[in-house]
Amino acid sequence: MDSWVPGAAGSLWDVDNLPYGIFSRPGGRRQVGVRVSDHVLDLTGLASRQHLDLADALDAPVLNPLMACSRDQHSGLRSWLRRALVDPAWQTEVAPYLLPLEELELHLPFDVADYVDFYASEHHATNVGRLFRPDQPPLLPNWKHLPVAYHGRAGTIVPSGTGIRRPSGQRRGEGAPDFGPSTRLDIEAELGFVVGAPSRAGAPVPMRDFHAHAFGVVGVNDWSARDIQAWEYVPLGPFLGKSFATSISHWVTPLAALEAAWVPMPRQDPRPLPYLEPDSALALDIAIEVELNGHVVSRPPYRSMYWSPAQMLAHLTVNGASVRTGDLFASGTVSGAAPGEEGSFLELSRGWTEPFGPESRLSLEDGDTVVLRYTAPGVEGGRIALGEVAGTVLPALERPV
Ligand code: CA
Repeated sequence: MDSWVPGAAGSLWDVDNLPYGIFSRPGGRRQVGVRVSDHVLDLTGLASRQHLDLADALDAPVLNPLMACSRDQHSGLRSWLRRALVDPAWQTEVAPYLLPLEELELHLPFDVADYVDFYASEHHATNVGRLFRPDQPPLLPNWKHLPVAYHGRAGTIVPSGTGIRRPSGQRRGEGAPDFGPSTRLDIEAELGFVVGAPSRAGAPVPMRDFHAHAFGVVGVNDWSARDIQAWEYVPLGPFLGKSFATSISHWVTPLAALEAAWVPMPRQDPRPLPYLEPDSALALDIAIEVELNGHVVSRPPYRSMYWSPAQMLAHLTVNGASVRTGDLFASGTVSGAAPGEEGSFLELSRGWTEPFGPESRLSLEDGDTVVLRYTAPGVEGGRIALGEVAGTVLPALERPV
């Protein structure tokens, strides 16, 4: 059955997609919306009018109250939305709540609780290991036994479209460190998983409970200052080279929209420990495009990732750490095995040695705009789009300190 919403049927934003976000009208308050075609359904307004069970959770300036609801509540809302957007009997009632996307402002979709960033691509970890530690094996001994990660900075996660100020910091100099604007500013094309229902402290989340806690996915660009990172990261890991900004999409795609996207994982060898249940691990078939100033420079395939999202959640809670509504755990840079599938400029330029793309870039220059686009198979055939992640590099502050 086709939707009555103009332009929806067969598009990347059909009723088999229906991602959630936060929008406002000019001068208005922030409300919960659902994207369909080039429109946003004002869910806050419609839910209060229809006296939906979830009306309270939908009357909020962020998605957190909705995300905290149960999986049954989420699927009930999704079924109702699909019915309302397909059945012509609903059109008169619903159409007044359908707003043109171009007239709205979109915002950070949820309050980010904790942010964890994994390092789950074998191809990326291998490429970076070769470049950063050329005298050692590219993968460290733990890498195939656990999904390596670090805790990032939740407070500097920004929505798509936010300008990214080039950071300044310490770099390894000649003999002594120097200080100045990063000269190796880079992107990391990633996928982020958003926690809905919290877990209990002390209770690890087994892989089979992944869907009970993971609400949906967002696009992620984890901007990275490689010169700052290279000097600071031993022995405790990334810090100021990463924490200045991480961009996420405006739209949170619910996992229900990705049911047709699960595919077998690449083989895991050696076999991980039992709590990482390699036999039930699944990858997501999500295609990513990295666009620099209007030109596609790379197409990283998410299905090539070594660790699955359910393994990431099982690992990050196995010590008893709980997760909260609004926690974001990102995959780490997505890089495929083939040339043209790299998720960072560090890899695309072979360690800043080979300019790439029509503009012969090594790293990001001021004024550069990067857009990450994501598509996946839809549950009714065809494809759906995930929210894009855009950002433009702003020049460094003249006097940072
Ligand atoms: Ca990262």
